[in-house]
Amino acid sequence: MIAAAILGRAGRRVLLVERQAQLGGRLRSSAVEGGWVVDDGAYLWPDAWISEALRRAGADDFVASEIPREHVLRLFVEGEGGRRLAFPYPLRDASPKLLDTARTVLGVDAAGYAALTVLWQRCAALSDAEVEALRCVPLRDGLKRLGADPELAAALQCNVMLYGTYDPASASTAECIELCRRPADRPLARPVVPGANPGGGVAALVRSLERALTTARVEVRTGAEVVAVRTAGSVATGVAIESGGSVSDCAATDVVLNVPIAQAAHLLPADLKHDLGGAARAWSAVGGVIAAAFAFRGMLRLRETGEPDEFPGWTRLLTRGASGGCEFGGGMLWTTLHSPANAPPGQHVLQAMRLSPHSDVDDPARVVAVHDGFERLIREIYLDVDERLLWTRRWATRDGSEYLIAAAPRPPVRAPGVAGLYFVGETTDVPAVQMDAAALSALRCAEMILEGRGAGGGG
Ligand SMILES: Cc1cc2nc3c(=O)[nH]c(=O)nc-3n(C[C@H](O)[C@H](O)[C@H](O)COP(=O)(O)OP(=O)(O)OC[C@H]3O[C@@H](n4cnc5c(N)ncnc54)[C@H](O)[C@@H]3O)c2cc1C
Repeated sequence: MIAAAILGRAGRRVLLVERQAQLGGRLRSSAVEGGWVVDDGAYLWPDAWISEALRRAGADDFVASEIPREHVLRLFVEGEGGRRLAFPYPLRDASPKLLDTARTVLGVDAAGYAALTVLWQRCAALSDAEVEALRCVPLRDGLKRLGADPELAAALQCNVMLYGTYDPASASTAECIELCRRPADRPLARPVVPGANPGGGVAALVRSLERALTTARVEVRTGAEVVAVRTAGSVATGVAIESGGSVSDCAATDVVLNVPIAQAAHLLPADLKHDLGGAARAWSAVGGVIAAAFAFRGMLRLRETGEPDEFPGWTRLLTRGASGGCEFGGGMLWTTLHSPANAPPGQHVLQAMRLSPHSDVDDPARVVAVHDGFERLIREIYLDVDERLLWTRRWATRDGSEYLIAAAPRPPVRAPGVAGLYFVGETTDVPAVQMDAAALSALRCAEMILEGRGAGGGG
């Protein structure tokens, strides 16, 4: 949507094809009767590029809410009686609170925490080229290369898990290192969530982009699926589109694929398909989401302080595994602290979700266990759940986010070997993550097309 709007504004003739009935992809909100809005992703994103991309797209009426840096993440561990734990951001000096987190969550004592800090420092001191060489190395192997002993490697993997992955050992070592080290070409990202938009939820961002597409005279065709990219020699010439049971070709000088890479390979010509096949297989391992929303009369009070919760950021939840160690339990966000239109006045919505492997999403017993886990933790963290609970919604989806999930190659924005073909989206090779990567790849793609580096540089 961003690339289409920028190109349309620049006077290009653009056709946007979406196989769903509505635009927005993984940015989804749904209305619940009685004046509520529930989000199904995305929730909180790093904004190094998105605002700029939206401005360039002409989508400048979306209101974002910035989260103060010290309130982006906090931790709760099952069985700790609702006690808040300090988030162990790498490279922070050891305070008594951080040493408590080290013991309770990372499984290391003060000496172990000092050794972990030295390991993070070693990561932070690597050169750009050294980090890049670790881009497709899973963390379990990367840590061996960095000389970490097994106990230290386990602590660092647990530290990475707190940022949102259920499988840190398989994450890209470079992406993990970037948690404590910003590459020279990456501006500081502001942590933001949807703010006080009239419509509420993350759908407000989609609505803003839809208005921008209309203003930019982009033709939008929903309910139509791109089934192949057409090429002549090494030049993209258009796409085949299936709609209403029939397939027709659409000629174009430039083709921009926003299809998640795991599904993109089968649309491509044979030689390029071959190149991307391995990456597509690796990214198809990315799981889905087990989620819930809880609506409350007023704001819940924290068991720890007795005060209403006012935390604006993301709450990481940890459960206890069979061995007593901390396991990934997902996270929670009070969306109504930022987006009042998500609830009737004075009421609040707490959203919980756990990025989960497909094996979890496909197992009904496991889905119930995760949902029950959310409820258990909420009751442990807050004093007054039962008096205030109005309704609960539970669901699971088969798509999630690629962030910190796989050490697989990412295609460059400009497809190798096929002039006029581009990839945009979360899993492209740009110095950004998640939605920010989608926005940056769209910006870069539009710039390349407008600079005429594509096949025809035409309409
Ligand atoms: C539950 C959840 C929570 C998330 N939370 C966060 C978060 O907190 N922060 C964050 O930064 N990111 C988060 N993400 C990730 C974020 O949603 C994505 O990074 C973002 O949506 C950008 O994705 P994309 O443009 O790469 O692809 P998508 O949003 O998946 O868009 C791809 C679009 O292409 C369409 N399509 C696919 N194939 C075809 C075809 N053949 N023909 C026509 N159309 C096709 C799809 O229907 C879809 O509309 C979350 C994702 C989920 C699911």
